[in-house]
Amino acid sequence: MRASKVKLGISACLLGAEVRYNGGHRLSRLCSSNLSEYFDFISVCPEVGIGMPIPREPIRLVGNPLAPRAVGTVDHSRDVTNALSTYAERMAVELQGISGYIFMQQSPSCGLERVKVHQEGGQPSKPGRGIYAAAFCRRHPDLPVEEDGRLNDPVLRENFITRVYTYAEWQHLLQQGLTRRALIAFHSRYKYLLMATDPVRYKSLGRLLGELNRHDLGELAPHYFRELMSALKQCATRSTHSNVLQHLSGYLKRVLSSDEKQEMKQLIGQYREGIVPLAVPLTLLKHHFRRHPDCYIAEQAYLQPHPEPLAPSNAL
Ligand code: SF4
Repeated sequence: MRASKVKLGISACLLGAEVRYNGGHRLSRLCSSNLSEYFDFISVCPEVGIGMPIPREPIRLVGNPLAPRAVGTVDHSRDVTNALSTYAERMAVELQGISGYIFMQQSPSCGLERVKVHQEGGQPSKPGRGIYAAAFCRRHPDLPVEEDGRLNDPVLRENFITRVYTYAEWQHLLQQGLTRRALIAFHSRYKYLLMATDPVRYKSLGRLLGELNRHDLGELAPHYFRELMSALKQCATRSTHSNVLQHLSGYLKRVLSSDEKQEMKQLIGQYREGIVPLAVPLTLLKHHFRRHPDCYIAEQAYLQPHPEPLAPSNAL
């Protein structure tokens, strides 16, 4: 159990703050109602943060999609690119304690992906990234980030929330003082989650930690964590989940009756074929581990990556 809620950054308009260019908001019920039970949100409006008024002339991205400029839609000489980038640098320091960030989609300041970058001479716009979001993410490359619209997809939401809790646990580990032993214990806890999301990195990170004594901990740990967070960005598939469920059920082989083993195997097979959702074999597996506790399995993040009510396993 966590003593306090995990902190998340969020675009202020998503929590209902009337900070948009037209004086409106873009309230996200998911964030303001469901997620706020589990997370402490720190809301930021970068455009207001750099001193732009409400209401205001909207801005848009123009030029090179990889390095766009944010300029006024009417007064093209009004360029707020540097102000937004500088503000992002400042907030990246102030918000050190957050474990994730939810950005407002399609905004020239906050949008993470596919923000329109307008081209000269009436050419079609190209996709880019909002100025504030891009600069903030450069400072926190491992931080879990997501756009509000994508969070309505249960698979993407589950993936984001899992990464947020992983990040928070890593922050806690660093605060306690990282040791080789603590790193091994951390990795051991994430082993099956990693196997489900990225079987290739599961092997390479296992090998990396197998040689831990030959490396400097201060250099290896950030590399390890970056790889882990990249791996967890992948969404587990029915095939990889089934593989993990089979591995986990192997820990029960001495304690289950042959009928129980058969039932477990059948449900994993039905999940693999798309007949039942993940929650069905997972619930039975957890039931068996409650009856036959195993210290190693009890620590596995795969079985409890975040508080139970946040798990939309029926959609997976
Ligand atoms: S998208 Fe970002 S900059 Fe625009 S109103 Fe919302 S918080 Fe402010």
